[in-house]
Amino acid sequence: MTSTKVAEAKAALERGEFDAAFILSAEAQAELPEDSEARELYAVIHLAKAIRLSDRAREARRLDLLHREIDYDVEFQDSPEVTRAYDEAAAAIDDVLRVAPDHWKARMLKAALVFRRDRESGRPQALEILHALAEADPTNKQIPFTIRKIERPCVRCGDTGFCPHCKGRGQRRVLRMERKCEKCYGRGICPACGVL
Ligand SMILES: [Zn+2]
Ligand SMILES: [Zn+2]
Repeated sequence: MTSTKVAEAKAALERGEFDAAFILSAEAQAELPEDSEARELYAVIHLAKAIRLSDRAREARRLDLLHREIDYDVEFQDSPEVTRAYDEAAAAIDDVLRVAPDHWKARMLKAALVFRRDRESGRPQALEILHALAEADPTNKQIPFTIRKIERPCVRCGDTGFCPHCKGRGQRRVLRMERKCEKCYGRGICPACGVL
């Protein structure tokens, strides 16, 4: 059985009306919680939003470092805006996992987010997710690679996760001019451990 809501959500997506598709997919899923098509559509659309929010949280932290002009290794603490951005991203991922607990990409994203947010508490949680994924799919080479990259504290960045060349700012001051940091392509993320 295909619900009309699923068809409506797909049509909205094709028209580029993401917000409408988002709501319709949630309604379709609520209407037919056991329907695999409705579940998959919900997961895909909600994951797209979760990815956007995760990227936004990371970028919010970089902009925060840039504007506050603080050194991350001195007194770094997330501002309320950054904390909120991470909370929203985490909630969006949990929304996907509530409906599709085995969703591979959503679980990868969850591992990435907890690790990025706070290494001390996030590392064991991220590794637990990654080890479970590796066990579920032993042929996937990306997972053991990622595990090796993050299982030990990173010496390149002092395990802050920030690009050591620009101190997480994504920009460097050269001859009094702000230039995009070429080591991290302006993202402010450590090139060695920022894989996740
Ligand atoms: Zn690093
Ligand atoms: Zn950099």
